[in-house]
Amino acid sequence: MSLRVGVVGGGQLARMMIAPAVELGIELRVLAEAEGMSAALAATAVGDYRDPDAVLAFAEDVDVITFDHEHVPQPVLRAMVDAGVAVHPGPDALQYAQDKIVMRTRLAELGVPQPDWAAVRDAAELQAFLDDHGGRAVVKTPRGGYDGKGVRVVSAASEADDWFAEFSGEPLLVEELVAFRRELAQQIARRPSGGMGTYPVVETVQRDGVCAEVFAPAPGASARTVELSARIAADIAAGIGVTGMLAVELFETVDERLLVNELAMRPHNSGHWTQDGAVTSQFEQHLRAVLDLPLGATETVDAAAVMINILGGPQGEEITDRIAAAAAEHPTAKIHTYGKSPRPGRKVGHINAVSDELDDAAYTARAAAALFD
Ligand code: ADP
Repeated sequence: MSLRVGVVGGGQLARMMIAPAVELGIELRVLAEAEGMSAALAATAVGDYRDPDAVLAFAEDVDVITFDHEHVPQPVLRAMVDAGVAVHPGPDALQYAQDKIVMRTRLAELGVPQPDWAAVRDAAELQAFLDDHGGRAVVKTPRGGYDGKGVRVVSAASEADDWFAEFSGEPLLVEELVAFRRELAQQIARRPSGGMGTYPVVETVQRDGVCAEVFAPAPGASARTVELSARIAADIAAGIGVTGMLAVELFETVDERLLVNELAMRPHNSGHWTQDGAVTSQFEQHLRAVLDLPLGATETVDAAAVMINILGGPQGEEITDRIAAAAAEHPTAKIHTYGKSPRPGRKVGHINAVSDELDDAAYTARAAAALFD
C-alpha cells in the first residue's frame, strides 16, 4: 500500500506537494477549509482545522499529518498526538511558529542572534523600549500575522494603542528597527530521526511586507554568511525539534551580521525556486522528511535561480491567455499557478527561471511575470 500523507490546509503549499507526491507514489490527502481551494486537485475533504473532531477524523486514514499553514490550534495538535497520530512538525515545534514572543524567548535560550526585543504589556513599556532604541521600533502582534499584516514601525507608543486594546492583557512584541542590508532566507529539512538537508541561503525582496522576488543562491554572499546561516538553521531545527521543512528568515546587516527575523515550519515562499533550481524541491523534501524517508540532494542545478511572485494577477479567463503568452515569449520560464481567483496583492502564482547567469534568470522571470500584471 502506498504511503499516505494528510495535509491540513488547502492552499498553494498543499497544491505544490501534489506533483512530487505523485512522483514518489505517495497518496496525498488534503483537509481544505472550503470547496474549490488551490489544493482541490488532490483527494480533498472539507473541514474546519480548528475542530478537533474534523481533524481527528481526517487523520484516521493517513500515515502522517502535516500542514499547509501554522494555524492549527495547540489543543487540536495535541489531541492528534494523544490519539497516536504521527504529526510533523509536532506541536512542541509548531508553537515557535505560532507565537513570535514564544519564538523570540526560545531563540534567546538557544543563543541564536536576533534583533533586540521585548514583550510589552502597555504603552509605558513600549515607550521605554523606544527610548532605549533611538525612538523607533517595530511592533508585532505575536499571533496571526502574515505577509506584513501585524507588523508596524512606530515612533510613538500611542501608535500601537489599537493593538493594545485589541489584544487586551496579552503582550505585544517590540523589536529594534534593524538597518538591514538585505533579507535572506535559509531552508533546511529535518527528519524525525534527525537527518538534515540544507539548501543554499537565498536573498528575498519584500514589497509592502509581501515576498516579491527571491534570488538563489544569495548573490555575493560571503563564505562566512553561507556557513553561518546554515549553522543557525541547523541549530534551530535541532534545538526546537522541527520535522519537515524549516525556513529561517534572516536580516543581513551592513556589518554582515545575521539576525533571525522569523521561522516557518513548512515549505515557504522563499523556497519556491527549488522546484526548478534545485535537485530536490522543498515540496518533495517536505514529504520525504515528514515520512522519515532519506532526503534528496539540495544542490542547485545551475548557477542561478530567480523566483518572481505573481501578485494580484488578471481576472477570470484571462489567466489562461497570460500563461500562453508567457509560455510563447519565454520558453525557459517555469510557470506555477495556484488556481486562485485574483485579488489585488494576492499571491496567485510565481515564475521561476534558472540560468548559468543571474541577470539572465532575473530578466526571464521578471519579463514572464510582467505578462500577468
Ligand atoms: P510576517 O509574519 O507578516 O511575515 P515579519 O515579522 O516577517 O512578518 O515582518 C515582515 C517584514 O517587515 C520583514 O520581512 C521585514 O521587511 C520587516 N521587518 C520585520 N521585523 C523587522 C525589524 N525588526 N527591523 C526591520 N524590519 C523588520
